Amino acid sequence: MTSIPGEPTGAPTDVSRETWDSQDVDTPIGAEAERAVRMMHAAQGQLPRPDRQRVFTIANQKGGVGKTTTAVNIASALALQGMRVLVIDLDPQGNASTALGIEHRPGTASSYEVLLGDIDVGEAVQQSPHNERLFCIPATIDLAGAEIELVSMVAREGRLRTALSELEQYDFDYVFIDCPPSLGLLTINALVAAPEVLIPIQCEYYALEGVGQLLRNIEMVKAHLNPALDVTTVVLTMYDGRTKLADQVAMDVRAHFGDKVLQTVIPRSVKVSEAPGYGMSIIDYDPGSRGAMSYLDASRELAYRGAGGQTR
Ligand code: ADP
Ligand code: MG
Repeated sequence: MTSIPGEPTGAPTDVSRETWDSQDVDTPIGAEAERAVRMMHAAQGQLPRPDRQRVFTIANQKGGVGKTTTAVNIASALALQGMRVLVIDLDPQGNASTALGIEHRPGTASSYEVLLGDIDVGEAVQQSPHNERLFCIPATIDLAGAEIELVSMVAREGRLRTALSELEQYDFDYVFIDCPPSLGLLTINALVAAPEVLIPIQCEYYALEGVGQLLRNIEMVKAHLNPALDVTTVVLTMYDGRTKLADQVAMDVRAHFGDKVLQTVIPRSVKVSEAPGYGMSIIDYDPGSRGAMSYLDASRELAYRGAGGQTR
């Protein structure tokens, strides 16, 4: 995001920073209005539908890097722009289900039963209360036991892929699998089930710590279980432009992953962290916010990169 000329250095608060960073407008209210208008246009315009269903696993074994936030908000932004989108919550904490306002009390048909093959995917799909094109397979606390239950099962790494094989018939343009913060069997199942991996990386110290391990696991899954697997997309999250560190991390990540990294960087924003508390994505909670705009931009980049994530 470019700065406006004459931007004061060292903006005192996060709030002022949010507004000062906006482009082409002089006042905070003007900036917000402009963003809201862009959001309305996005809702009217349609993105190109991908040639075939695109399935992403959103993985990073570090907790709190923005996996769930990215899954929910990119999904919501794509749905706003006419895509049919499914989010599969594969984290027993059920954060994606909460953030999308989806029922996930114990006993709800969920990713757990789907994973074990007890029910069909269609039986667990719920529609978002905020967008008719956005759907979610929730996670309940039952999923917490799955990691251990899977260990003794036949074809334990391929359970989700088998379960999702009928997904094609549901006409989703995009499917996002939100993983727990570990490299256990749930994440492995997700990596076996999806051709594309999206890695969110928080613009903080130690950001790349653990990424090497994640990439080695991805290579292992690719070699033995899912030859089509590829890291197509990296998203920089929680970027705080006031810190030199954030820029350094962003540069390191770009040096490492090249054009897999989306140009759009997700800013750190209080609004983004508030939205899940209302069972809403940032797109629905505050469409005029910088957080909403950044996820809209990220979703468009992702869509235009096309199947396989190719930009070249
Ligand atoms: P993960 O799924 O990787 O554990 P989350 O998406 O749950 O990470 O994010 C961790 C925490 O950081 C949550 O409380 C979330 O609301 C907050 N958060 C995520 N993205 C942002 C952001 N851009 N700005 C501020 N807070 C954020
Ligand atoms: Mg999460």
